[in-house]
Amino acid sequence: CGIIGYVGSRGDPSEVLMAGLSTLEYRGYDSAGIAVGNGSLQIEKREGELEALEKAVSTKSFSGSVGIGHTRWSTHGPPSDRNSHPHTDESNSVAVVHNGIIENYQELRDELQTEGVIFSSDTDSEVVPHLVAKNLKAGDDPERAFQRAVDRLEGSYALACVIEGEDAIFAAREDSPLVLGIGEEGYYLASDVPAFLEYTRDVVYLDDGEFVTLTEDDYIVSKDGHRVEKDVKTVEWSAE
Ligand code: GLU
Repeated sequence: CGIIGYVGSRGDPSEVLMAGLSTLEYRGYDSAGIAVGNGSLQIEKREGELEALEKAVSTKSFSGSVGIGHTRWSTHGPPSDRNSHPHTDESNSVAVVHNGIIENYQELRDELQTEGVIFSSDTDSEVVPHLVAKNLKAGDDPERAFQRAVDRLEGSYALACVIEGEDAIFAAREDSPLVLGIGEEGYYLASDVPAFLEYTRDVVYLDDGEFVTLTEDDYIVSKDGHRVEKDVKTVEWSAE
């Protein structure tokens, strides 16, 4: 159970994502996956060791400036390729990774299914991309679509979301860790600092109830619809 995200100008985001996931291995996992975006979303996910994902990733070429990655420790639905994150909406235009448990997922799933949404996994997490897609269809801008989806969730979560055509990561946390890294070549997002310590020591710790929108040149943290000014802390320790 770990999350990594990157938006910036380093080139192929899958390198940062795979390196980050391997430093998060110690947290335990049964499957892993990544989504790389701008333009359409490229997704790879596999049950099992990171090696299986690495193999799949190495046969593809990824381009873009934004990506998210996940190691899963299953709570809802057995370990499998289809239950691995990222999860998407039906049109593959929204991809989401989630750590934690969405307590009211059954109610949300029933509601979405009544509206005709077809689910492709057994996870609690999959309601999130469908909710975001529904809000986008209703006319929300991407940031609002994500925030209104998260507002409907009960439980614990660290969430990161990418949307087709958007050079941005939308993220939120509640009772599950999430930290930002402020780098020279972009911004990082992770469950834990070591995942991006190779690239930057300047970090912002997110608090419960906070949202962050990361783009190549800015990060905006907000809570209850208001912008929050966060302290940037410099990490003195090293991972070795
Ligand atoms: N509850 C989610 C699932 O079972 C996320 C688990 C995790 O934190 O990795 O897929």
